[in-house]
Amino acid sequence: THPAYETALRVLATLREAGHKAWFAGGSVRDRLLGREAKDYDVATDALPSRVEELFSRTVAVGKSFGVIAVVEDDIQIEVTTFRSEDQYEDGRRPGSVTPTTPEEDAQRRDFTINGLFYDPVADRVIDYVGGREDLARGLVRAIGDPGERFGEDHLRMLRAVRFAATLEFEIETRTREAIRALAGRIDRISAERIEIELTRTLTESPRPGRALCTLLDTGLLAEVIPEAVPMVGQEQPPEFHPEGDVFTHTCLMLDRMGAGVKEPGVDRAELAWALLLHDVGKPPACVHSQWPDGRPRLRFDRHARISADMAEAVMRRLKMPAKRIRNVVTAIDRHMRFMHVEEMRESKLRRWMAEPVFPLELELHRLDCEGSHGDMSCYRRVMDLREKISREPVLPEPWVNGRDLIAMGLEPGPGIGELLDEAFERQLEGEAASREELLAWLRERVAQKSNQA
Ligand code: ATP
Ligand code: MG
Repeated sequence: THPAYETALRVLATLREAGHKAWFAGGSVRDRLLGREAKDYDVATDALPSRVEELFSRTVAVGKSFGVIAVVEDDIQIEVTTFRSEDQYEDGRRPGSVTPTTPEEDAQRRDFTINGLFYDPVADRVIDYVGGREDLARGLVRAIGDPGERFGEDHLRMLRAVRFAATLEFEIETRTREAIRALAGRIDRISAERIEIELTRTLTESPRPGRALCTLLDTGLLAEVIPEAVPMVGQEQPPEFHPEGDVFTHTCLMLDRMGAGVKEPGVDRAELAWALLLHDVGKPPACVHSQWPDGRPRLRFDRHARISADMAEAVMRRLKMPAKRIRNVVTAIDRHMRFMHVEEMRESKLRRWMAEPVFPLELELHRLDCEGSHGDMSCYRRVMDLREKISREPVLPEPWVNGRDLIAMGLEPGPGIGELLDEAFERQLEGEAASREELLAWLRERVAQKSNQA
């Protein structure tokens, strides 16, 4: 079990020995019943925050006014929350105050029935005031109480509903879903940072992120948070390359494939998910209807990779994503059509590309792009074959010559040296020079040519 579990049990025991009610609450109970590993263990108790602070030597008042105290034991933080009801929602965000109350009422203020369960590990008993166990068994995300009211109080819950449905592979219960459809437009009152966290967790933690994207579309949330993605729905593509259909379907297929497995070690799942979601957003605006010489209609996407990259950058900036992720995703999208040319690409150029830190991300984007459409893996295989061939050497070998060699030939330090070194390295990579000596000889000739020209 989880390293925090033993610690959480001790925290629970301390509260009970002091005469208080103390149970596990929320996510850990849900995950336990689903046979999944819990992320953390939250404890709910009738002890007031000040009492919790008295009972434990190390505490952090993470949200004392909402009744939340973090107890620190063995460097592990356990959140201990006083049973409370919440009122006074302001502008669809955090409640202004909390009132200590009974466990029944505490369950009522939680978001979904599957998150409203308590567990008493001493009696091995689940305490269910909200029908959460039944919904767990049925695979339903259902708001506790009136869904419209609950989403009206806290708009972030709409994205949480989609996240839980996606990560647990549950359905959103009908009335809950309808309430989200009705209130989706209010999500703009939630900060970009919180929206981004939910979206990224949804895409990276679910076994079928493509299905999650469909849920976002279907609930109307996608149109609010990433309106740029919606025109991909129904956007035609040449069927010879895209037997799967429109751009949105293609994107969902790729995301689901990502859920089935990422092959390149070290690829950041968040970067990959966003690269997949946004790699073709530029297709609808880039679409040009023209004709083949024989008069048949022809679909072209003019510079769609560049347009997609620009649009992706705007989306990611708006969602306040980390700069490094933005940079890598934009590069991967901007260059994703480059793979079409690897067959005729010089080995040196390909090797230099492969040596770039962003390359594994690009390669995964390409693999999933092909697997989610025509299925032709020949470009991918060319890269993998080259990798195999050079697997015992570094992607790029040590250059045989350096700046000192050129200066020794009498060249002045300056930008000319870099250019010559580049050319020399290219020759080395392409096997046009067999040794350092041959390369030096070639360089001497080039230097002589240059000084004659000067
Ligand atoms: P996970 O940690 O796996 O994402 P979780 O269920 O533990 O899922 P947390 O965000 O850690 O979710 O919150 C803990 C519990 O607090 C939830 O299970 C739920 O009962 C309650 N909760 C969290 N956020 C909200 C919210 N916005 N509205 C109502 N209840 C909430
Ligand atoms: Mg949690």
